[in-house]
Amino acid sequence: VALVDARHDWGDDFRLEREVWQPLGIRLSTAFCQTESEIIAAAQDADAVVIAGLYTPITATVIAALDRCRLIVRYGIGVDNIDTEAATRHGIVVANAAEYCVPEVADHTASLMLAMVRRVALLDRVIRTGGWQPPPETLGPMRRLSTLTLGLIGLGRIARAVARRMRPFVARMLAYDPYVDRAVADQESILLVGLADLLAEGDLISIHVPLLPTTRHLIGAQELARMKPTAFLINTSRGPVVDEEALVQALQTHRIAGAALDVFAVEPLPAHSPLRSLDNVVLTPHLAAYSPEAVIDLRQSVARTVADVLQGFWPAYVVNPEVKPRFPLQRR
Ligand code: NAD
Repeated sequence: VALVDARHDWGDDFRLEREVWQPLGIRLSTAFCQTESEIIAAAQDADAVVIAGLYTPITATVIAALDRCRLIVRYGIGVDNIDTEAATRHGIVVANAAEYCVPEVADHTASLMLAMVRRVALLDRVIRTGGWQPPPETLGPMRRLSTLTLGLIGLGRIARAVARRMRPFVARMLAYDPYVDRAVADQESILLVGLADLLAEGDLISIHVPLLPTTRHLIGAQELARMKPTAFLINTSRGPVVDEEALVQALQTHRIAGAALDVFAVEPLPAHSPLRSLDNVVLTPHLAAYSPEAVIDLRQSVARTVADVLQGFWPAYVVNPEVKPRFPLQRR
């Protein structure tokens, strides 16, 4: 197994992973690579490639050069830096740790929503800088949560967990997800609608789609223009799903009431980003997934995935199921 973007070893020399792999004769090599050629040099002979980072380029060029690779797995959920189609063409399974941080991201999203509506971050800032109550034009209308409509863009694992947390707070819940089964939405008492209706009716609009060519800038100037001026946008998925320039403009002109963001077009958020000085935003540094418990789940999930594939079994979370007919693995 080649871990190609090792920045650190979780503080214990991969003890948890080695406990699973060593009895099976699976050896781990680690390298810190940033470029395609460095990754190829480190992983060319590996049976499985593991990445942790969001920006490590597992491109078609890298994938074509992996001579023995059967599995590429990311310590995480989003696999937007892996060319999944190229992996499928080469008969390589792409896997993730699809469930490790669902509770954390859902809790974080719910807290961002409550913080936005009740202006928690703004009020805290005012007090810390020697003030008391902010002027009404800065405060804006603080609406009663139980009258608001929650709109979820994407209705996968995280969005459904957000819905379960927010159900007691809001009046109703809508979702836009062209790929989800209606029964899934019915089960959560969520009404499936088109994107235009969701944007027009949502008071809290929360994004939970993967970053794909089809979701890049899914929310741009046109979509923001459809939102109510009193509505909030929450993004804990991936920065580039939102056209950040258009969002900044919508916030500066009060086209929408506010935004809460854990993810950004460029991370870390550049020092000069106008988002840093806007009053109507709540910002967190891509930490929605974090808890010590989630890290343990993450490591166990990746360790099991590697062990499964190298022993000839399908892992629990396959990102490219299209590869299955081409791949002689067994069901556990
Ligand atoms: P998931 O795969 O369970 O759900 C994604 C949903 O998006 C699916 O139901 C899918 O049908 C839907 N979808 C795909 N394309 C769509 C489109 N064009 N329009 C509307 N819906 C679409 O994934 P999840 O576990 O809910 O995670 C969602 C995303 O959150 C991940 O892909 C990842 O990028 C991001 N994430 C962020 C953090 C963080 O730290 N902020 C942590 C984990 C995951």
